[in-house]
Amino acid sequence: MSVSPVPFDGNPIAPETERFLKETHRLLIGGQWVEGSGELETRDPATGLVLARFQTGGAAEVDRAVKAARAAFEGPWGRMTVAERTALLHKLARVMDANATLLTELDVIDNGMPRFIAGLTTANCVEMIDYYAGAVMRIEGTIIAPPRHIAAETEALTYTLREPVGVAGQIVPWNVPLSTAILKLAPALAAGCTVVMKPSEETPLSALALGGMILEAGIPAGVVNIVNGLGAEAGQALAEHPGVDKISFTGSTATGKRIIQAALGNLKKVSLELGGKSPVVVMPDADLALAVPGVAMATFFLQGQNCMAGTRIFAHAAIHDALMEGVTAFCKVMTLGHGLDPATTQGPMISDGHAAKVMGYIERAKADGVTLVVGGEKLDRPGNFIQPTVFSGCDNAMPLMREEIFGPVMAVQKFESDDLDAIAALANDTPYGLSGSVWTRDLSTAHRLVKRIRAGHVSINCHGAVGTNIPFGGYGQSGWGREFGQEGLDAYLETKAVTARL
Ligand code: NAD
Repeated sequence: MSVSPVPFDGNPIAPETERFLKETHRLLIGGQWVEGSGELETRDPATGLVLARFQTGGAAEVDRAVKAARAAFEGPWGRMTVAERTALLHKLARVMDANATLLTELDVIDNGMPRFIAGLTTANCVEMIDYYAGAVMRIEGTIIAPPRHIAAETEALTYTLREPVGVAGQIVPWNVPLSTAILKLAPALAAGCTVVMKPSEETPLSALALGGMILEAGIPAGVVNIVNGLGAEAGQALAEHPGVDKISFTGSTATGKRIIQAALGNLKKVSLELGGKSPVVVMPDADLALAVPGVAMATFFLQGQNCMAGTRIFAHAAIHDALMEGVTAFCKVMTLGHGLDPATTQGPMISDGHAAKVMGYIERAKADGVTLVVGGEKLDRPGNFIQPTVFSGCDNAMPLMREEIFGPVMAVQKFESDDLDAIAALANDTPYGLSGSVWTRDLSTAHRLVKRIRAGHVSINCHGAVGTNIPFGGYGQSGWGREFGQEGLDAYLETKAVTARL
C-alpha cells in the first residue's frame, strides 16, 4: 500500500524557508532579479511534491548575463583593491552564516540529503569563502632571471603577475548543490573574476538564496549572475558563449565531453570535475571496526549520489565474509526517510528518472545471477527511496563494476593475492580516477598501495576525506584540473610575464 504524501513528511521547516519558497524565483543578472523566458518546477524528492516554480533562461538571458559580468569585470570589480575584495568575501561568509538554516533546509528539501550532511556542507561553504577571502592578499607573482639576450646588454628585471582569467561560466550539478556552487564561486571571486552560474535544473533553490545573500553582502552588480535553466539550453549557451573566458563544469563525464566541444569556438579555458567509480581496497589486516562503517559509508554517503562514492569494493578473502556480515548489518540499520527527519541516515534518489536508472542496474544484476547480499528494492512509498544494496561475487567486466550508477549500490569483488601490483591493477581497471581508499593496519602497505592507485584523491582508513584546503580532481575520465585549496584558486588566474630593460 502506498502512503499519501504530506509536505516534508510532516517535518517542520523554519519560517525563513517557508517565506523563501513563496517568493518569485527569477534570474539574477546585473545585480537585479529579472524575468526569465521560461519556467520549471522543482520537487521534494522525498515526497514528489512541488516545492516551487522558478524562472529559467536560454541563450538570450545567458548573453545578457555574460555582458553584465564583462561590464563588472572591466568596471567596479576590476578596479577594487584586494583589501576591498577580501572584506566583501568575508562579509558574504557572515551573511551566509547568519542564514545557515535557510541554506541547509533548501538543500535538504530540494536534493533530499539528510539534514546533518547539509548542515556540514553549509558550514564548509562558509569556511571556504573565508579561506579564499584570506587567499586574495596572497596572490603573488615571482621575480625571475631576465632573458639572456637582454641581460647580456643591460640590467633588466623580469617578474610575473597573476591576473584573473576574466568572465567565468560555472555549471553546477544537483548532488551537493550549495557546496559545488561555492567551491567554484569563492576562488573565482578571490581571483578577481566575475561569474555567470548555471545551477542544476533539479536543485535551483540554494543558489537563488545565495544570490540574495550576494546582493546583501554588497558585492557589486554583475559580479555574480545566476541563470537557472536546462543544460541543453542555458548550460550549452554558457559553454559556447564567446564572451566567456573560462568554463568550470561539474557533472557527468558524458556532459563534460559536450562542454569541451562547446568551448572550442573561442578556446576558453576548461576545468572539469566529472564522474567516478572509485575503488575501496580492504586488506587482510584491516581494522574491521573502522572498515565496516567506513566501507559502507564510502558507498552510501549521499545515498550514493556522490562523485567520490567508493562503489567498487575489493575485499581480501581473509576478511571478505566478516566484512560482508558487518556491512549487511550496517545496511539493515540505515534509516531511509525525509532529510528533515533527524533519524534519517539515507534520503531518496533525486528524481523518478534517476531512480529508474539505478533500479535498472539492480534488476539487471539480479537477472544476471549476481549474488544479492542485502537490499535491492525500491520502497513502496512516495519519493524515490532505494534500499542500500550490496552485490558480491562481482568482477571487473560487469556493468556494476564499470559504470557510474550514482545510487546506493555496492559491488564487491573478492581477491586472494598479496601482490600490491596485482591488487592495484584490479583497482585501476576503470576509465575513471577520482577517488579511492585503502584499509589496512600496515601503513607501509597503505602508502605503497596508494602510490599505485591512479586517482586524484586516495584516503587511508577513511574515504573521501576532502577539505577546503586539499586539492581535489580526477585522473583519467574523471576530469581536468583541480578544485579546492591553492590549485582551486590557480584555476582562475592567468600568469603574465613582464621584462623591463632598466
Ligand atoms: P549532468 O552532467 O547531467 O549535469 C550537470 C550540469 O550540467 C547541470 O547543471 C546540467 O543542467 C548541465 N548540463 C547538462 N547538459 C549540458 C550541456 N549540453 N551543456 C552544458 N551544460 C549541461 O550531471 P548531474 O546528473 O547533474 O550530476 C551528476 C554527475 O556529476 C555524476 O556523474 C557525478 O559523478 C558528477 N559529479 C562530479 C563531481 C566531481 O567533483 N568530480 C562532483 C559532483 C558530481
